[in-house]
Amino acid sequence: MTNYQLSTMNRRSFIVRVGTAGAALTMAMGKDSTLFSAADSASKIQLPKLPYDMKALEPHISEKTLQFHYGKHHQGYVTKTLQMIARTKYEGASASEIIKGTADQPDSETLFNNAAQVFNHTYYWNSMKPKGGGKPQGQIAAEIDQSFGNYDKFVEEFTDVATTQFGSGWAWLVQDSNYLKVIKTANAGNPITDGMKPLLTIDVWEHAYYLDYQNRRADYVKAFINSLLNWDFAEQNLESSGPIC
Ligand code: MN
Repeated sequence: MTNYQLSTMNRRSFIVRVGTAGAALTMAMGKDSTLFSAADSASKIQLPKLPYDMKALEPHISEKTLQFHYGKHHQGYVTKTLQMIARTKYEGASASEIIKGTADQPDSETLFNNAAQVFNHTYYWNSMKPKGGGKPQGQIAAEIDQSFGNYDKFVEEFTDVATTQFGSGWAWLVQDSNYLKVIKTANAGNPITDGMKPLLTIDVWEHAYYLDYQNRRADYVKAFINSLLNWDFAEQNLESSGPIC
């Protein structure tokens, strides 16, 4: 058995375990839950179903932005990744498997970029929900307090990192050696290449906010934190043993 087959099996058993926990959580939270709509054990590189309607994030993120960002940009990364992995050792691999296999390899840079953008956008859609944002509760709240001091300090740090990422990239809340921290990655960069567990992310490429906010990235970041952020997803990732895609 190759390493790759082994990691595929591990991933399958992960999905079965998470699937059970996810079902219990969904039942506990009622039918409005938007948890875990991205992963599908049948196909790996795919455009995940959006966990809400195209208009559901308005007025903070418009339907038009989602039509382009999800329907064109994210779809484009999926299509390109599928084209690139066809009949290669990555055919059938997940985004995280491709990311780990191609990181820091100059001859695989284009595949890394496309697969990482598939991963990053899948996390981004799930990092938001209608009527989200504000202070978290439960385990994730305790972890935020422990790692940042309090929620306001987290907001300050997340805002700073998301607004100061120069050019295209992402800001992330991650778990790193049992502590939470906020990091930024440029272009398609992804925390799993540094052994960190992503909990949530915001896309700060201009295509994520330019139609709605033009150059006002800070207003977009503020709306994300106060009105969109999906803490349920962060808590779910905190408890999971592996990435969702
Ligand atoms: Mn994007």
